[in-house]
Amino acid sequence: MASPLAKPFIDLETRYGAHNYQPLDLVIVHAEGCWVTDIDGKRYLDGLSGYSALNQGHRHPAIMKALLHQVERVTLTSRAFRNCELPYFEQELSELTGLPRVLPMNTGAEAVETAIKAARRWGYRNRSIPEDGAEIIVCANNFHGRTTTLISASTEPAYRSDFGPFTPGFIIVPFGQIKALAEAIGPRTCAVLMEPIQAEAGVLIPPTGYLKEVSALCKRHNVLLMLDEIQTGLGRTGKMMCYQHEGILPDVLILGKALSGGYYPVSAMVARQDVMALFEPGSHGSTYGGNPLACAIARAALRVLTQEQLPERAAALGPPFLQRLRSLRNVSSLVRQVRGMGLLFGLELTKPARPIAEELSRVGVLCKETHDNVLRFAPPLIINQQDLDWAYARFEEVFTAQPHNVAA
Ligand code: PLP
Repeated sequence: MASPLAKPFIDLETRYGAHNYQPLDLVIVHAEGCWVTDIDGKRYLDGLSGYSALNQGHRHPAIMKALLHQVERVTLTSRAFRNCELPYFEQELSELTGLPRVLPMNTGAEAVETAIKAARRWGYRNRSIPEDGAEIIVCANNFHGRTTTLISASTEPAYRSDFGPFTPGFIIVPFGQIKALAEAIGPRTCAVLMEPIQAEAGVLIPPTGYLKEVSALCKRHNVLLMLDEIQTGLGRTGKMMCYQHEGILPDVLILGKALSGGYYPVSAMVARQDVMALFEPGSHGSTYGGNPLACAIARAALRVLTQEQLPERAAALGPPFLQRLRSLRNVSSLVRQVRGMGLLFGLELTKPARPIAEELSRVGVLCKETHDNVLRFAPPLIINQQDLDWAYARFEEVFTAQPHNVAA
């Protein structure tokens, strides 16, 4: 039930907004670090982190400083002119990833779209794929964004229903099964596009070694490997990029979300030289992509990740917390399975997760259901042990109070 102070905001939004989300009924008015405050002055630990856009925490002071500094100088030039932040952003992101070329965009979906265009062109010009015949292999249950082309690659009815006609050229294989992928690669395949962990689908983690095999398969068949690390990248899973767990380097890397630490939409396609070289003037662009404000923010966001060693933090804090979350199965039979890597966790329940998310918010932990019966918990990577302990106690409290608790 919304509080009397929150209700007018909720009513206005309900009256004037599109109902394409189903938010928890609290109205956030302030945020700092791992914590947010609602209009009633109640504090919550943010266990969603803007779907991992807030790996650096809310309103990180170093990113804010960069934003304010840049805002007073120049914010938008368009790519019709050069600006003094873009070259350094490109250099720093290239050096961080080990991939030589960077193309900045704004939202995650745009960066994935950019990669799809690059892959198709690469296929026509390097693999002699007949015109308009290029195919990209994607995985069932993927989430790459909401544009008409990206939902064409989706298997989720809720994302697709009555939004057709769809973009052709996607072949769908089961996630985590190397044999199915090997069988799907054909003469028209230009690329394989996948998330290293399917976070939206419920934090689905493929078998160890899968990504390495995918990479080898792509190399063997001269097909591009394009990894969408928009949610798993930039420290979330305990390495700067999730693919580093398997010692590989993709041909194309797609980043977004935490690339700007929650201040501003910044995304990028980062790629091999020969792939990026296919974009000549006029072939692709975006008015805001690569603007100096975005680049200044992103540079600061990347510095925070490395200077504060946030991937290492996720690697240290994550595994013990995963074990603790797994012990919730001793408390409640509602918890079927707990999956996680770094500070990205999915609790698969035996019933819809929404009421549990609501209960958790009541006791001060914000997280959200994904795919009905999975509860995703992904706090900012700056979180400390004390706050994690506090969050765990709230999980225990909520699950113990459920009718299906083991002791009952
Ligand atoms: N790809 C992945 C893996 C994502 O998690 C998301 C967003 O949740 C996107 C793409 C789309 O990003 P955006 O919402 O910024 O368009």
